Amino acid sequence: MDIISLDKEYVAGTYGRYPVALVSGKGSILTDINGKEYIDLTGGIGVNTFGVADEQWLQAITAQASVLQHSSNLFYTAPDARLAQLLCEKTGMKKVFFANSGAEANECAIKVARKYSAEKKGAEYYTIITLVNSFHGRTLTDLAATGQDHFHRLFQPLTPGFVHTPANDIAALRETVASVKCAGIMLECVQGEGGVNPLNKDFVQAAEEICRAQDIPLIIDEVQTGNGRSGKLYAYMHFGVRPDIVSTAKGLGGGLPIGAALLGEKVQSVLGPGDHGSTFGGNPVCCAGALSVMSRLDEDFLADVQRKSDYVFSALQGAEGIESVTGMGLMLGIQTTKNAKEVVQRCIDKGVLCLTAKTKIRLLPALNIPMEQLQKAIEIFKAVCKE
Ligand SMILES: *Cc1c(COP(=O)(O)O)cnc(C)c1O
Repeated sequence: MDIISLDKEYVAGTYGRYPVALVSGKGSILTDINGKEYIDLTGGIGVNTFGVADEQWLQAITAQASVLQHSSNLFYTAPDARLAQLLCEKTGMKKVFFANSGAEANECAIKVARKYSAEKKGAEYYTIITLVNSFHGRTLTDLAATGQDHFHRLFQPLTPGFVHTPANDIAALRETVASVKCAGIMLECVQGEGGVNPLNKDFVQAAEEICRAQDIPLIIDEVQTGNGRSGKLYAYMHFGVRPDIVSTAKGLGGGLPIGAALLGEKVQSVLGPGDHGSTFGGNPVCCAGALSVMSRLDEDFLADVQRKSDYVFSALQGAEGIESVTGMGLMLGIQTTKNAKEVVQRCIDKGVLCLTAKTKIRLLPALNIPMEQLQKAIEIFKAVCKE
């Protein structure tokens, strides 16, 4: 059976896939259908927090799947209650809504911000301010939030009530806030799909200050940056701010689909019965996986993520064929002299998997990738860049 031609014939052509058919893996080593092994620097786009088939994670999800794989949200179950408690204890947030993806976590964040502002200030306060070059997901509302026009083409009309302002321009942000009836400011601390660009600390702090002064919910999209990826539990923790709403997904479940909107004190009571929901949201197996992931992201583990990050920065900065390295923790963007797609293909040939973001190479390895594997992969990557 030829997987690639079968996929091309029957699966909607939304992805520019690389010509690799993966069948299995262990940790950060993946094996394709021909038995070729790769060191994985993609982590399934920042999802497989502890790599593939991690023993502790596997035990958690199989134990839960064997007793109750789903129950509907009409009844109480332990995994989602315990996960919500852990998330709140680790962040100081007050309530959690569970969804299935980053896009849905952001939809919830936007609904909460709009309802809060409508109740507090009036229904005309619905505009959400986001940043140019942001990425917030693929639903029509999240596309409206996404500040990149090429995602919008031919999908009009998008959900109204979104405006975009340039990243790191405090004066422009102030002007934008003054020019609309604002229901929320939403940003990624590190713009991921936009090219792995961290925001300036003073800009994020200014956004928080504006939000506090004008009673506007501050929403941080931690779908990609969250759950240890940045070297802290959530990337906002590097910036000295306290968001009102945090959306997250990708690495939260360690490989199963789960998203969450964490609600701070200001907005904790906004959602009531019937305001929002999700059939699969809070699925017990996904929550058991997320509990296993979250319970292991302690200070020592995060310090190790930071050490690996420091290693990659020092190994790549100034190397031949490498123009810049940006990012935080194990979310890294590398501008190479060579075209990024070519670099990815050459790395595949040599047994390393990596991603792109705009014109850059993007690395989102499993957070527990062994140092020797990381070093080996980075050496191969460096060799490709200077070929
Ligand atoms: C991936 C991503 C999303 C969308 O998440 P999905 O799970 O694909 O819906 C939203 N925001 C950011 C910052 C992301 O990186």
